[in-house]
Amino acid sequence: MKYAILSDIHGNLEALSVVLDKCKELGVDEFISLGDIVGYNANPKECLDLMRTLKLVCAVKGNHDEYVAGADNAIEGFNPHARAAVIWTKSQLTPEDRAWLSRLPMRQTLKGTLITAVHATLDSPDSWGYIFDEHHAADNFSYQFTPLCFIGHSHVPIGFCKKPIISFSDRMIECLTDWESRNTPESHFKRADSVSLSLDAGHKYLLNVGSVGQPRNKDPRASFAVYDSDLKTVTRYRLPYDIESAQAKIIAAGLPERLSSRLALGI
Ligand code: ZN
Repeated sequence: MKYAILSDIHGNLEALSVVLDKCKELGVDEFISLGDIVGYNANPKECLDLMRTLKLVCAVKGNHDEYVAGADNAIEGFNPHARAAVIWTKSQLTPEDRAWLSRLPMRQTLKGTLITAVHATLDSPDSWGYIFDEHHAADNFSYQFTPLCFIGHSHVPIGFCKKPIISFSDRMIECLTDWESRNTPESHFKRADSVSLSLDAGHKYLLNVGSVGQPRNKDPRASFAVYDSDLKTVTRYRLPYDIESAQAKIIAAGLPERLSSRLALGI
């Protein structure tokens, strides 16, 4: 069985379309959404509708989903650009769309699989914290009862592995540098189109799959992952898409210019 794991689509239809074409090519069976389907970019309604046509077996709520679904005065801790995007996005969605977003769970373990999904962190999913290092990962692993946990939120791909206890002198939690180098090189376009992890029995993995619609790892390509439960691999893909078209729509919608320019830079 192949599961595609998509996070932080953020209303970017150009990026989502390319990702879904790739999923078709790869023979993906089922889809998992890690949240923030909407917000920032200019096609929130189209992305939401498209996601709901898929075999979506697991979908958790992101902070943008929550704020778009909620009352205007509930937008806390957002910068002015994100706030403007949330308010604009609300105007593009129907009450039913917003109700659908509001019903999404904060975290979900997919029955009959090894997978748990959460947008931010398992220990306190509605605090919208970020996982950037082994200490954050350690907190999350204490609440992770499946071998695999997929996360989003930071828009930066990063992976951690927790090894089984062999001796107390071993370092148990490791950052998986193959998944994404922590020291992002400027020559980001030279990165491979995909990176694959083989899952070891008895290990736990915490994987941020990156962002489909607004990457922030200085690599503007759309990022998502596919878990193959037969081969026991997780592969992350980096796909170019029509950034200029997504940018033109942002400007035409009257959204902040910064939301357009950042797409080309992957920041
Ligand atoms: Zn996001």
